[in-house]
Amino acid sequence: MNRRLPGTISQCQRLLLATHNHAPTAFSSRFLSTSSVNRERQECQVLVVGGGTGGCAMAAKLSSRLGSDKVVVLEPEDKHYYQPMFTLIGGGMKRLDQSHRQMADVLPKKAKWVKEKALEFDPDNNTVSTSGGKTIKYDFLIIATGLQLNYEKIPGLVEALETPGSNVCSIYSPKYVDQVYECLRRTTKGNAVFTFPNCPIKCAGAPQKIAYISDHYFRKMGRRDNVNIIYNTSLPVIFGVKHYAEALMKLIKRRNITLNVQRNLVEVRHGDNIAVFEDLANPGVHYEETYSMLHVTPPMSAPDVVANCKKLVTPTGFVDVDQMTLQHNKYSNVFSIGDSASSPNSKTAAAAAAQSPVVFRNVMAAIEGKAPTDIYDGYSSCPIVTGYSSCILAEFDYNLTPVETFPLDQSKERYSMFFMKKELMPLLYWKLMMNGYWNGPALMRKMFSVLKFNKK
Ligand code: FAD
Repeated sequence: MNRRLPGTISQCQRLLLATHNHAPTAFSSRFLSTSSVNRERQECQVLVVGGGTGGCAMAAKLSSRLGSDKVVVLEPEDKHYYQPMFTLIGGGMKRLDQSHRQMADVLPKKAKWVKEKALEFDPDNNTVSTSGGKTIKYDFLIIATGLQLNYEKIPGLVEALETPGSNVCSIYSPKYVDQVYECLRRTTKGNAVFTFPNCPIKCAGAPQKIAYISDHYFRKMGRRDNVNIIYNTSLPVIFGVKHYAEALMKLIKRRNITLNVQRNLVEVRHGDNIAVFEDLANPGVHYEETYSMLHVTPPMSAPDVVANCKKLVTPTGFVDVDQMTLQHNKYSNVFSIGDSASSPNSKTAAAAAAQSPVVFRNVMAAIEGKAPTDIYDGYSSCPIVTGYSSCILAEFDYNLTPVETFPLDQSKERYSMFFMKKELMPLLYWKLMMNGYWNGPALMRKMFSVLKFNKK
């Protein structure tokens, strides 16, 4: 994984000052709609592209501060999914209908929702053109388009996923997540194979969470002696943060799960129940694995529409932001939050929560004509569910140093963390984060650290 270490604050501020010239000199607070030759033109103060986790949180914060109709959200979907629930749906612990709300009910009332896709970004002219034929001119732009799932990049995979009874499944898409528990129920023997692709993904813990849940499921059903669990990851290690990797390696050994590192899924031959993997340590060397169940984490990338705007992105297609301020490195009126940003944090909703106050304060500073100075430390968190009643709560920053909130050793499997993940986090997401009130657990962590508990 491409990882840049954080620089110093003064380096960052120098960079900011150098790039500040792109901010508009006059900040419009209007929202007009006029017709041009072919395209309807609209204008707004802040345009948020993407109404998912990060976009919705930003729209809530900014529209509450700036007032009605200053913020436009460009988002084509009817439904807003709480994606962290997909892993639990895969294990049969939640239902798909519990994971989503209507977009209209989630987006803030004070923001204007344009139910269309961004088709093209033109940062030199501060405009975005949309699928409905509009050109939206903005003073400030926040890109929050998340990640695109590229199932079609693996030959045979889409066909396998769409063939009833093929025993190929994936928690990553609402389209396929319901199949995962069905696959589990149907699997009585053979190899249950789990994959992790060779690219940045959202919630890098989820591919192994579903493997641990499956292991627990097969044990509960008395089938585990007949089912081999094989976890094939493209990464060289089980988890990037040593503190949690050590605990997970012990768990894998204790549960008799086979771990193969640097193995990347390249083809699915679903008629023969064969998955083909490339050995990334020996490029060109392929292995065939017969499966009775195959759980696939698809390759992912920034959405094409973002990646295609070369002026806005890094060579890997992510929005080219300063990793501390989340302001664009070239266009100072552009910011990004969440999975589509180039900041080298682990891509999670928890990271977007911690980024949200930073982006908010830095956008507000830019609106006032000041240099943004608020700093994101790379905080991300991953509740690694290890079964039907246990969870390891990994929390860490850009340096891959654990930054644990609770006065407990969070590398241990605990029911309390499982309960929090399953029951409390969805509430926190819908009630607080979507209304702009959740900034991550930093305050809670400070409170616990003042109390100076001994970790056990
Ligand atoms: P998203 O929430 O994905 O939103 C992107 C939005 O942009 C979407 O609404 C999309 O419709 C819109 N969009 C895309 N293209 C365009 C366009 N051209 N024009 C306009 N709008 C567009 N995170 C955790 O913190 N903890 C977990 O336990 C966890 N588990 C997960 C398990 C799974 C299986 C999955 C899939 C994710 C998990 N995550 C978890 C990750 C988390 O859901 C994401 O990191 C988070 O949603 C990212 O927020 P975002 O705003 O960047 O993107």
